[in-house]
This record gives sequence, C-alpha cells and structure tokens, in this order.
Amino acid sequence: MKTAPDGTRSVRHLIGGEWVDASDGNTFETRDPHDQTLLGTVARGTAEDGIRAVTAARRAFDEGPWPRMTPKERARTLHDVADAVDSHRAELALLETWDGGKVLNHMLHAETPRVAHNLRFFADYAAMAPNEAYPDGSLLSYVLTPPAGVVSAISPWNAPLMLASWKFAPALAFGNTVVLKPAPQTPLSAARFAELALEAGLPEGVLNVVQGYGGDEVAGPLTADPRVDRITFTGSTTTGRKILAAAAANLTPVSAELGGKSANVVFDDADIEVATDVAIKGVFAGSGQVCLAGSRLLVQRGILDDFLARFTEKAQALKVGDPKEPDTNLGPLIEGPHLDKVHGYVELAQTEGGKIITGGARLTDDALANGFYYSPTVITGLTNETRTAREEIFGPVETVIPFDTEEEALAIANDSPYGLAGILCTQNLDRAHRLAAQWKAGMVWLNCFFERDLRLPFGGEGASGVGREGGQYSREFFTNPRAVTMRM
Ligand code: NAD
Repeated sequence: MKTAPDGTRSVRHLIGGEWVDASDGNTFETRDPHDQTLLGTVARGTAEDGIRAVTAARRAFDEGPWPRMTPKERARTLHDVADAVDSHRAELALLETWDGGKVLNHMLHAETPRVAHNLRFFADYAAMAPNEAYPDGSLLSYVLTPPAGVVSAISPWNAPLMLASWKFAPALAFGNTVVLKPAPQTPLSAARFAELALEAGLPEGVLNVVQGYGGDEVAGPLTADPRVDRITFTGSTTTGRKILAAAAANLTPVSAELGGKSANVVFDDADIEVATDVAIKGVFAGSGQVCLAGSRLLVQRGILDDFLARFTEKAQALKVGDPKEPDTNLGPLIEGPHLDKVHGYVELAQTEGGKIITGGARLTDDALANGFYYSPTVITGLTNETRTAREEIFGPVETVIPFDTEEEALAIANDSPYGLAGILCTQNLDRAHRLAAQWKAGMVWLNCFFERDLRLPFGGEGASGVGREGGQYSREFFTNPRAVTMRM
C-alpha cells in the first residue's frame, strides 16, 4: 500500500506474493464516512483477478510448504504475525477508524487486539487441541484432520479486520491457503495486514487479498471456482443466499454468518443498572452496525416506564461525533445509502404506529455535516409483527416492546426469521437457564453481552446463517476429518 504526498493511499491486490493492479486497471475510491475525505484508490478486482488469486492459493496449497508444515511450525509463524499486529496496533486501528468510521478507542483496545488474539488462539488450538482415538480390542481407530485446501474468505465492513481474522486465522492455522476479499467499503486494513503478514514470514501465496465487489466481479470465482474447497462468508442474508447458490454447483461447503434481529429481554427482577448498560451496549455499540445487536428490546411491563426512562436518558447522553475523539461513543454510519436505509426504517416505523422517543434524525451539526451521522433512536408502540421489528436495520435504532410473562417474552424473542443471538437480563437463575435452553439463537448472553470465548460455537439459525465457527467447530470446517481404523 503506497501513500502519496497528499496522504491518499493506493491499494492493490496481493496475489501469489506480488502486489498487482486489477487486470483491466480499474479502481474504486474509499472515503472516510466522517467527512467523505478521499482515503485511497483501490484496485477494482475483475473475475479474472479472482481466478488468478484462486490459482495462486491453489499452487501454494498443492506445492508450497504451508500445508506440509506441522501445526507447531505454522503456529510459530502465526505468532510472529500476531506480534506484528500488536506492534502496529495504532496504525491498523486508525486505518479502520478512517475507513469504517468506528470509534478509535474501541479499535485500539478491543478489535485490533482481537485480531492478534484470534491468530494466537487458532495457532495454539491447531497445535495443541486433543484429537480422537478409540482403542477397541484389536481395533485402533483415530481421526486425522488434514487441511481442506483453498479457502475463500469474504468479509463485511462492520468489523473489517477482526471478522476477517475469524476466518483467516483458523483457516491458516489448520494448514489451508486463503483468498481474502474484504468489503469494498473498508479495504485498507486487510491490505496493510497482508503486508505485515508477508514481512513476518507467511510464505507467498498462502494469504492472497483481492479487493472489490461481489457477483460478476472479483468475488465471483471465489464462490464458483471448483478449485475452492471452503467458503467462509460473513455478510447479509441476501448475499449469503447467492453465495450458497453459487457454491452448490461444486458442492463447496459454506460457513455463512449472516444477519440478525436479536431480542434483548429484560425481566422485572433484573439488576436495573446492569440491564440498562447491557441494552445500551447491545444496540448502540458500533452505531448499531453489529450483526448481534439486541435491536428488539423486550421489557417486562411492570418496569417498562422506569426502564425506558433510564435507557432513553443514557441513549441521549451518548456522544455522537468524530470517531477519533477519545470521548466519542458513536461514530458515523458507513455510507450515505446505508444512512438512507436506516432513516427509511425510522420513517416506516412511524407509519406502522411507532412513536419516536428520542433520535430519529440525521445529525448535521457543523463538524458532522459531511459525515453520515445518525442519532441514537428509541421507538415504542410497535408490535413484533411490524417490519421495523422483523427486518435488520443495522443502525442505532432500538424497538421497545413490552411483555407480561416469561412465556410471552420467549414467544416474541423466537418469533423472528433470524436466530443469531439472544440477550437476557434477570437475577432468577432458573429462568435464565430455562430460557437459554428454549431460545432459537446460536448464542445467548445472560446479564452480559458480546463476551466471546473462541472455543465456543459462533453462528446462527434460520436466516442468520449456516454452520458454526470457533475452536473445534472451526477445525471441523477447515479440515477434512478422516477416520482411520487399523486391526492390530
Ligand atoms: P454484504 O452481504 O453486502 O457484503 C459482504 C461481503 O460480501 C462483501 O465483501 C461484499 O463485497 C461481498 N459480496 C457481495 N455480493 C457478493 C456475491 N454475490 N458473491 C460474493 N461476495 C459478495 O454485507 P455487508 O453490508 O458488508 O455487511 C453487513 C451484513 O453483515 C449485515 O447483514 C450483518 O448482520 C452481517 N454480519 C453478520 C455477522 C455474523 O457473524 N453473523 C457479522 C457481521 C456482519
């Protein structure tokens, strides 16, 4: 990635260890959502570029050292890459804040360190996790886990490098080679990361990064080329369906982490301070552009007025502004069309009978005038049947729905096309575990939110996706488990 004297960057693909332009020379721009400053021009990948990247990854897998190294040897390199991420933490965090508008404090202290953590965790997991062996009289059976091959990793813009690292870290640790395609809104951090990874000793062709768009452009071959052995995708449900359809032709296994519309249920016996903080973080972190967001807030009727007053007061106290300022809580939304979509839902909510308690508008104060800023918004008066309550808004918009009984809360929580996450605040442990067992969701957080142990399965049900990643679940996906049975 070259930086011009005016500060703009020029981003190319990394294919087989070489930095190259798009085959037709085309580029696209990436801009800061804070003020629309031009940050860089980026190679706009063609289908031909996608094919070249798959070819490079295939060659590195079939002929290169990486799949033939032991997991411990690979772990040493991945630890070196993680160290490089740590020593460039400030630079990577700032690139992501510029590109995606996320709060710099959060990038510095949460997401960028998680990239390094993901690399170290999966490096160590691949080297040290137990494996199965079943001695049975004269028979000895055991399981081998050779790498699957070439992995296409397609990631979204809302947590660019952290989500990409949930893909490339396990894929690489288990011995695969990777073609990564970041989202076109946030191309910078993946390009810089790839430079650091090469410098840290990752062999050429093991990690390839192509930039650009989906469908017929660069991402096409990443999903449809028969030389791809696994596709790991995080993004919208609409794109997920297309990728699963493209992958079906070659029966390529897909792990798809898709959208969400999670319920956050607050019972009248909850610790009200904890529940308010969880609810605020649950929907306003990342300006609501979080797949896991608890964007349906179900509150037991007895505490509705009190809870709503506290929640609204805290929402109004959140500082929306330049994500580089240390006291900012919410940065801008990713781009203009996305802001229009979010505001469109707020307008729809009002036609569906919703009442805007706070927010509901684009922020255009002087310093924010050129950015895509939206106020933290709280809506009441809607039922769970409305489109506002059923569709993913992916912005700082909370829909508050009252309930009376535990059964009713569970029924509303589960009445969603999505099934990604659930949040529950109660001090009744019986109730907490009872509901967790009946919740239609891949992940349930009790009296907390967003905590992530990488050994746990991550993924969703229904329209939220297919498959799970994390610990042994990643090993199953990124390897070809092989049963070996021997008579002694
Ligand atoms: P998106 O689906 O528009 O794009 C995601 C990626 O897919 C991008 O890299 C894009 O270029 C690529 N893409 C688009 N069309 C493609 C095609 N036909 N073939 C191959 N690749 C294609 O999603 P987005 O707007 O970048 O991200 C927001 C969405 O991601 C939200 O729905 C959010 O819930 C979801 N998400 C889910 C999780 C999860 O873990 N479940 C995490 C983060 C975000």
